[in-house]
Amino acid sequence: MATLERERHELFVDGERVESSSDRTIESVDPSTGEVIAEVPDATSEDVDRAVAAARAAFPEWRAVAPTERAAVLRRIADLLREHVDEFAEMETLDQGQPISAARGGTLGAAGMFDYYAGAADKLEGKTIPADDDTLDFTLREPYGVSAAIIPWNAPMPNVAQGTAPALAAGNTVVLKPAPTAPLTALRFAELLTETDLPDGAVNVVTGGGEAGAALSSHEDVDTISFTGSVPTGQAVMESAAKNVTPVTLELGGKNPAIVMPDADLEQAVQSVGIGIFSNAGQICAAADRAIVHESIYDEFVERIVAVADSYELGPGIEDPDMGPLNYEEHYERVLDYIEVGIAEGATVETGGEPLDREGYFVQPTVFSDVDTDMRIAQEEIFGPVLCVIPYADREEAIEIANDVELGLTGGVFTRDVTEALRTAREIQAGSIYVNQWFGGAAGAPFGGYKKSGVGREMGLEGLDSFLQTKNVAVNLARND
Ligand code: NAD
Repeated sequence: MATLERERHELFVDGERVESSSDRTIESVDPSTGEVIAEVPDATSEDVDRAVAAARAAFPEWRAVAPTERAAVLRRIADLLREHVDEFAEMETLDQGQPISAARGGTLGAAGMFDYYAGAADKLEGKTIPADDDTLDFTLREPYGVSAAIIPWNAPMPNVAQGTAPALAAGNTVVLKPAPTAPLTALRFAELLTETDLPDGAVNVVTGGGEAGAALSSHEDVDTISFTGSVPTGQAVMESAAKNVTPVTLELGGKNPAIVMPDADLEQAVQSVGIGIFSNAGQICAAADRAIVHESIYDEFVERIVAVADSYELGPGIEDPDMGPLNYEEHYERVLDYIEVGIAEGATVETGGEPLDREGYFVQPTVFSDVDTDMRIAQEEIFGPVLCVIPYADREEAIEIANDVELGLTGGVFTRDVTEALRTAREIQAGSIYVNQWFGGAAGAPFGGYKKSGVGREMGLEGLDSFLQTKNVAVNLARND
């Protein structure tokens, strides 16, 4: 079985590996075995200062690069990711746990994001504002400067790309902080950038946990912050950013509803919800957490989704099973605790509900029926392979249940009736709606949350707004002669 040579990694600052000033180390663990596969520094605020200073120093040079040349650098990054896809996929799988085919898809998706933003780099146009004859008034779209990207562990490569590709396209430089439990591909990515014409210091990586994250989000010399993670940490980031009046984009959690109407193609709904909740062992912010199913088809839906759950083969991601382990031990315990909570609240485990009797952090795909919308398992993000199936009597009730949570990231509706689909899409309070599918959509679609699921949008052309500020220039054309 493939494994990584246990290695001590360093920070990546100003185009090279640099030693951290920290004497603390974070062990990176293969979640399918619990074995340590690498060590990374638990960076200090001095390390963060150094990385921010390198990004600041690189900013004038990168900003001055012509947009078409910036685009060429981004395309080169995309090509390099594709050339190294096998290496990234293996590293991501061993560090994060997901099936290797999914990790391949994540790396290719990251490459696609660099291509997408390469295409945008020379189209960041301003406007001419109508004015009187003696005035020329126009806008410029300018980079902020140093952008901090703080990312989670559930999908490192897509998150690395979301935090760097649009930022670089817009002419910013970046300090990237991966999550402590899945930092390896971010470091390898930074190293790969030395094979491009990106100036040293344009992308820096500091590994670590809360201390490094807090140092970055409260840093006076960071000009914009893009944060992806949990609601409580997002709130802390927003608070510390407020002290410096630094803009933040927050991509936070979800507790996403999938409404299944009585006329739905049931097999399509069941398969889509299965993919929606069991992909990446449910560790996806956009997961289909709650199936809200019409009472007339409830029993049949439960029976069929149980069959889907039971068909999943679990194993180490490197063997490319249907589902890998959860990313780290504490999270695995938290998911198992939620299952206990659901049972104590009176929900019924239709299948799963147990850890696998083997090494690693494996939890069976789990389906809860008899779920009431007030239960904690129906309100709080579990971030594991745990589906809540909730019955409803009429569409008003379905919408009410769908919106009866603090979060609003994604939602979906399954029906053959186009009017119902479009009305429901309008009424679900969420940033992305899937109709008769889950996780679908165009590569350039914007993504982000309503309510406590976030602030701002990533991806698509709207994703550039977090990295550009608008300057208005008013010119007096009047002649005095
Ligand atoms: P987390 O909030 O614990 O950590 C996210 C990042 O913040 C990590 O890099 C972490 O080290 C860092 N951090 C920790 N404390 C910090 C502090 N005080 N200041 C600044 N940074 C700090 O989240 P997680 O457990 O890594 O990720 C899971 C969460 O991420 C889930 O809630 C999931 O829904 C969410 N998520 C959202 C999206 C989205 O696009 N909306 C995508 C993926 C994951």
